[in-house]
Amino acid sequence: MLKVGFIGWRGMVGSVLLQRMREEADFAGLEPVFFTTSNVGGAAPAEAGAGAALLDAYDLKALATCPVLVSCQGGDYTGKVYSALLQSGWKGYWIDAASTLRMAEDAVIILDPVNRAVIDKALDSGIRAYIGGNCTVSLMLMAMGGLFREGLVEWVNSMTYQAASGAGAAKMLELMKQMDCLTQAANASPNGDALSVETAVTATQRSAAMPTAEFGAPLAGSLLAWIDKEMPGGQTREEWKGESETNKILGTASTIPVDGICVRVGALRCHSQGLTVKLSKDVPLADVEAILASSTPWTKLVANNKQDTITDLTPTAVTGTLTVPVGRVHKLRMGPEYVGAFTVGDQLLWGAAEPLRRMVRILRERLG
Ligand code: NAP
Repeated sequence: MLKVGFIGWRGMVGSVLLQRMREEADFAGLEPVFFTTSNVGGAAPAEAGAGAALLDAYDLKALATCPVLVSCQGGDYTGKVYSALLQSGWKGYWIDAASTLRMAEDAVIILDPVNRAVIDKALDSGIRAYIGGNCTVSLMLMAMGGLFREGLVEWVNSMTYQAASGAGAAKMLELMKQMDCLTQAANASPNGDALSVETAVTATQRSAAMPTAEFGAPLAGSLLAWIDKEMPGGQTREEWKGESETNKILGTASTIPVDGICVRVGALRCHSQGLTVKLSKDVPLADVEAILASSTPWTKLVANNKQDTITDLTPTAVTGTLTVPVGRVHKLRMGPEYVGAFTVGDQLLWGAAEPLRRMVRILRERLG
């Protein structure tokens, strides 16, 4: 049985990973062991066997007994442990949710419904590091992969509406506290007309009563047009990942430009994106729709009408599902090569845990 070590299994991405592995009976045929940075000797999840204890995530010898290691622990941990493990002579496979190794030459960004050929080629050539992509990039490719596959994309502009969960559990919880704070302000408004409620809510958003320790500003009832660190040229790092990761995932011969503005909104765990695609040639709309629908088995074309859009193309509809709907597909007035689209995806599933889960499966099939 293939021994697989899990680090970071109780964090947000790690717990969704375990949940999905249980749903898909992925632990059958594996010998899982679980590591911790905070509770060595504590009880491991049941899959490790009766009475199994948590191992020290910094114990290189214990880690090195696993031919496959899966880390959802975060970039700091990867930075501390991965190269030390390699230096100790470990020759296993490293699967990771953190961005630390994504752009390394000897690492592949995994999104197998879109880049299985890139993954297989890397496995054949002895690459050992398989890293989950940025959630927004992965979800954009799950929606638009067909157009890339057909070589029809000259460039993409992506305007995002990103959920709080992408920033971690603490920020998700702060969003809920902010919503609660605003609801209390609305309920205390002296008369219930819309303008009075808005005035009370806005005053509360601007007051010290609003909990903002995590986001640094109100998100509930508002939005934040900045995600991650500043990069040269006016981009944020989240925006920079759009082009760099898309092209690495696809293994493009020449760079396809991808850029836009990334915005945090008050959604809980689904990222949404408004996309403008410049096609490399004029393609009939029906063909564009058919190609999009064929992007992956999870991609779902939503008819461009109001009812289907407000029913199926929302974070509320998509949360907790693997479906990646893409809708509002139409030619834009800029010209026949310009297509507009909107997509929504659960950023903890295809945006984080699911590509890692499937990579464990791919390795299990290869290594037995
Ligand atoms: P997280 O929820 O903060 O969990 C990371 C680790 O924090 C856990 O494994 C756990 O380690 C420790 N921890 C401390 N207090 C905890 C608590 N109360 N509950 C659970 N865990 C606690 O991190 P994450 O959001 O899953 O992200 C992990 C990595 O994936 C990061 O590199 C992130 O950038 C990347 N990523 C995240 C997302 C996302 O949507 N959040 C998407 C793609 C990639 P111990 O058990 O060892 O104490």
